[in-house]
Amino acid sequence: MKYQRPKGTTDIIPGESEKWQSVEERARKLFNKYRYNEIRTPIFESFEVFSRTSGETSDIVTKEMYDFFDKGERHITLRPEGTAGVVRAYVENKLYGPEIQKPFKTFYMGPMFRYERPQAGRLREFHQIGVEAFGVDNPALDVEVMSMAVELLRSFGLKNLKLAINTLGDVESRTNYRNALVAYLEPFESQLSADSKERLHKNPLRVLDSKDLNDQKIVADAPDILDYLTPDAQEHFDKVKMLLDTLEIPYEIDSNMVRGLDYYNHTIFEIMSDSKAFGGKWTTVCAGGRYNGLVEQLGGPETPGIGFGLGVERLLLVLDAEGIKLNNDNGLDVYVVGIGDKTLSGTMKLVHAIRKAGLSAERDYLERKPKGQFKNASRLNAKYTLTVGEEELAAGKANLKEMSSGQEVAVSLSEIQTNFAKVIQNFNSTKGE
Ligand code: ATP
Ligand code: MG
Repeated sequence: MKYQRPKGTTDIIPGESEKWQSVEERARKLFNKYRYNEIRTPIFESFEVFSRTSGETSDIVTKEMYDFFDKGERHITLRPEGTAGVVRAYVENKLYGPEIQKPFKTFYMGPMFRYERPQAGRLREFHQIGVEAFGVDNPALDVEVMSMAVELLRSFGLKNLKLAINTLGDVESRTNYRNALVAYLEPFESQLSADSKERLHKNPLRVLDSKDLNDQKIVADAPDILDYLTPDAQEHFDKVKMLLDTLEIPYEIDSNMVRGLDYYNHTIFEIMSDSKAFGGKWTTVCAGGRYNGLVEQLGGPETPGIGFGLGVERLLLVLDAEGIKLNNDNGLDVYVVGIGDKTLSGTMKLVHAIRKAGLSAERDYLERKPKGQFKNASRLNAKYTLTVGEEELAAGKANLKEMSSGQEVAVSLSEIQTNFAKVIQNFNSTKGE
């Protein structure tokens, strides 16, 4: 084949795109209930927006950035994640202003780009649905954000979900923990993977997130962040747990979880699925946490924030594997059948009137014989056919037929033109009489 899509990308074609629309629509409705409004930020940003925030030792910054210099020598990157761009927009548009409601709640959906080794559920262009909430440090907001993610996933009928939570504490907790972790890891230094060796002194928490099996063995006995929390950090975490209990949302504490981005503190969480889509291995579909220093890092005032990002491709893989059908296609309402050459404009007017009345309509474009048109109508699963020949057109009538029952009735063209929905209503109330 001459032209192929770039490695790690997909074409979302009709048949698939309906599933995407259905997921997005459900998310929009849910976010609306929680009063999150949409934000749309650029797909590309200054490289620094991500390099300053994701962490210089993170996988994203060290290996996965799609960055380039544009014709004006600006260092640009295709966004690898949603949060940093939203924070940049929050600061740039002064959404922290006194007249703006706190928390400032927003959501986004769109493509993200990471140079990864493509495999199931891991692409170079993938899509996230995410939320961010700024300006409030209250644990109630942490739990609102988590509950929203859980509710969204559950609303599809997914059951085998695990909410894993952890806390990274505040700056002081983290410094204390960091020292303990380095002291623990140093004796293993020579056994660590190259990445982890590099990170041991630059950013030791990162070692906990290593995908290297031997690193994971070493890390299994590492000290526990939960033993290093300051009283404030402990209190925040306790309240989060208490509020999750209040909402009866089950969770597990995973004190080795650190997340792939450096900007998190306090609450972090992942929602995982052990679906056969991922060979039964627990895989993260949605991940998020609190990032209280991020707004300041990008030049804004000290402002707490929290959010999550959900991988749409991974969600769709799970839904497929669990046999959950997403179908918001209501099917074809009416197929207009024209008999004879002289019905071209008559049928054109009919499909137009039906569509104007808010129903879907289709017609023949291939000059098929009536039999071929009826066959096509049933292939398209039309609920009704509306048939006209030259004589009917001259008499101002058409034949309306319900495909499932085979019942038919003559209807007037002028009624169709003025209110086709009413025509269907009348048909339904008189049929079977
Ligand atoms: P992983 O450890 O799997 O690489 P991550 O920590 O890099 O994940 P996040 O940055 O937290 O992932 O992204 C949140 C979610 O976005 C993930 O849970 C996943 O569902 C999705 N996601 C991340 N990277 C990809 C990708 N390359 N392809 C498809 N989905 C992805
Ligand atoms: Mg990753």
